[in-house]
Amino acid sequence: MTYTHEHLSTYGHWIDGTTVPGQGGTNDVINPATGETVAAVPAGTAADVDRAVASARAALPGWAAVEPSDRAALLRRLAEELTARNEDIAQAITAEMGAPIAFSRLGQAGFPALVTSATAELESDVAWTEKVGNSVLVREPVGVVGAITPWNFPLQQVMTKVAPALLAGNTIVLKPAELAPLSTRFLAEAVAAAGIPAGVFNVVYGSGSVVGEALVAHPDVDMISFTGSTQAGRRISTVAANTIKRVGLELGGKSANIVLDDADIDSAVQQTLVNSWTNAGQACGAWTRLLVPARRQAEIVQKLKAAAEQYSVGDPTDESVRVGPLASEGQWERVNSYIERGIADGATLVTGGPGRIPGLEHGAYIRPTIFADVDPNSVIAQEEIFGPVLSVIAYEDEDEAVSIANGTVYGLTGAVFGAQDHALSIARRMEVGQVYINGADFNPLAPFGGYKQSGTGRELGRAGVEEFTEVKAIQL
Ligand code: NAP
Ligand code: MG
Repeated sequence: MTYTHEHLSTYGHWIDGTTVPGQGGTNDVINPATGETVAAVPAGTAADVDRAVASARAALPGWAAVEPSDRAALLRRLAEELTARNEDIAQAITAEMGAPIAFSRLGQAGFPALVTSATAELESDVAWTEKVGNSVLVREPVGVVGAITPWNFPLQQVMTKVAPALLAGNTIVLKPAELAPLSTRFLAEAVAAAGIPAGVFNVVYGSGSVVGEALVAHPDVDMISFTGSTQAGRRISTVAANTIKRVGLELGGKSANIVLDDADIDSAVQQTLVNSWTNAGQACGAWTRLLVPARRQAEIVQKLKAAAEQYSVGDPTDESVRVGPLASEGQWERVNSYIERGIADGATLVTGGPGRIPGLEHGAYIRPTIFADVDPNSVIAQEEIFGPVLSVIAYEDEDEAVSIANGTVYGLTGAVFGAQDHALSIARRMEVGQVYINGADFNPLAPFGGYKQSGTGRELGRAGVEEFTEVKAIQL
């Protein structure tokens, strides 16, 4: 089905509270389900970045002087304005990156509003001023924050930065992913409608290599908050070092999900597939390695296969579809080559496999795929695939399970299924920023972030707000 939204074809950057035409050309936004162009957005330049940074800098003193409780009130209004735009946001995200519409409403458009209102509630938890001995400690904004975000949760990744940065009194220049920029326009309108002053929030569209690099190198940007690949995170750290910026990095993952002997297997199987295939597996925290007791692998794999085959792949505008296309043709090539690599390296293909799906050849559709007997050191068990590809790895004992779980360069999330205390003791041994026990719920108040090469710093929760503050100690 063709997505059209007149509004979206007349995009400009969002600077100082208004639409500003770009200085360069435009980039097309492509619907991965159809190959059709859904919008054009400016291909930003370094001059566009300069303009946006100047706007954010000018707005900073005024915004920093607003009382935190008043900033929190504005965030609550912003959450309401986002909620009012839920359908527009969901439709835009489904069109640009292929998330199934039912999931878009809830996860892609709904969560960002939830994170915004949850962040507002943290205002009373942050120690904006505190006495320590003969000092008064004051938390101030870092300044102008450059936010750079990926395409997989295009608005959620934005709001986990924008909401806490605003609460802490910073002003923002956002560069969303070129592939999925459309929802940020609704955000800009929501910011204005909420009554947040012009210049506090700005958006510059364009590529990482031009707009992203210019933002990271900019002498008047005080902090970069980045979500994306480990490779780009490494480059951003290097460039940001020249101006000694604060850098927050939310990077890739290869999360392990350990099924213990005392787990409820049916529940573990169901929850594993929900996690693995939501958003077509394009989630940094996806549990892409399922670690199972060796003597139970056959039984678990059989259940996984039966459950997996219940999932429908198809048109993301269809209300009943659970797995849409991948976000782009580039992503299809990448995921398909990993599936081929898994077969070549000798893993057992349980379900799915490479190639186009008959009847769905026109879009970036891939078969949700499960491999068993996966060698924990093989490529598909070590590298982030970012697609619906699950690797089942057998372990002999729990020490081996923990060592396999910790045996990658990543450390973002993990999961354990088993009797609660038993599972908790395993969770404590995992080198990751978040662990989910028995499929527990996502908590927008819990800090999120990575150990090892999954990143530095935390988003969400009080820790996520404090990331966007400087501490000044005044001795009396
Ligand atoms: P990506 O290629 O790293 O891009 C992320 C963002 O960074 C995009 O806006 C990109 O611009 C920009 N960028 C790329 N190179 C840059 C540079 N040298 N300087 C400044 N900006 C630059 O990642 P992606 O492919 O969009 O997203 C997938 C990755 O994100 C996965 O590795 C995934 O694990 C990770 N991720 C992590 C989290 C988390 O919270 N830890 C959450 C979601 C995703 P373009 O518009 O040109 O691409
Ligand atoms: Mg696209």
